[in-house]
Amino acid sequence: MSRPLRFAANWKMHLGPDEARAYFKTFRTRYRPREQCEVWFFPPAVSLEAAAQAARDRADLVVGAQDIHWEPKGAFTGAVSGPLVAQAGAKATLVGHSERRHVFGETDADTRKKVGAALAAGLAPVLCVGETLAEREGGQTLAVVHRQLAGALRGLEGGKLAQITIAYEPVWAIGTGRNATPQDAAGVHREIRAWLAARGVGERARVLYGGSVNLKNITELLAEPELDGVLVGGASLDPASWAELVHSGAA
Ligand code: PEP
Repeated sequence: MSRPLRFAANWKMHLGPDEARAYFKTFRTRYRPREQCEVWFFPPAVSLEAAAQAARDRADLVVGAQDIHWEPKGAFTGAVSGPLVAQAGAKATLVGHSERRHVFGETDADTRKKVGAALAAGLAPVLCVGETLAEREGGQTLAVVHRQLAGALRGLEGGKLAQITIAYEPVWAIGTGRNATPQDAAGVHREIRAWLAARGVGERARVLYGGSVNLKNITELLAEPELDGVLVGGASLDPASWAELVHSGAA
């Protein structure tokens, strides 16, 4: 039996509702479901409902939000909440993506409130952590990752913690064409697992790698058993090549 793998597509600010419907039509034609293999999609909020409808009869295809506000409702113009995205069909949400942290100024305290809001809304949180290039070059990678984990997950116990997927996404690798080596990623994944294990996550935690994953490097990356899957931006936008990438990674 193959090992469980999760392939997550972050569409960022691309693909409106019509494009999302067309995307799923092509993806479903090209992708043959694989045992123990889940494909998650994070469309922009306006395309959540279209994507969720297009995936609704398939348990292995999961649709989630790219971000949520920590409040369930209220005067927060432009924001979407956990209950709102759940109503649109989302089953998961990214939290603390590096673009939220570094473009929109999201703090560790914000990520903590968002993880809590996601769990309260019944959404599976995918918490993104990772260091900048300067932090890496300064030998700060593990300190940054530990700080981000503690900032977002402090106070959560084993059962709740076990519901969280961690995506290790070094900031210097996102959208740059420069991916971490499988060995470098594995070293950080081991530290993340040890951090979770010390807090009572008994079962093997899900840790994904993200940052310039593409058709050329997916096989080499997933040959590393520390990686439970990948979070992919640019290389997930074309449905045919995304299906090919998932097949290559799951082979
Ligand atoms: C991402 O957006 O999470 C990401 C990893 O992007 P890319 O694959 O384009 O580097």
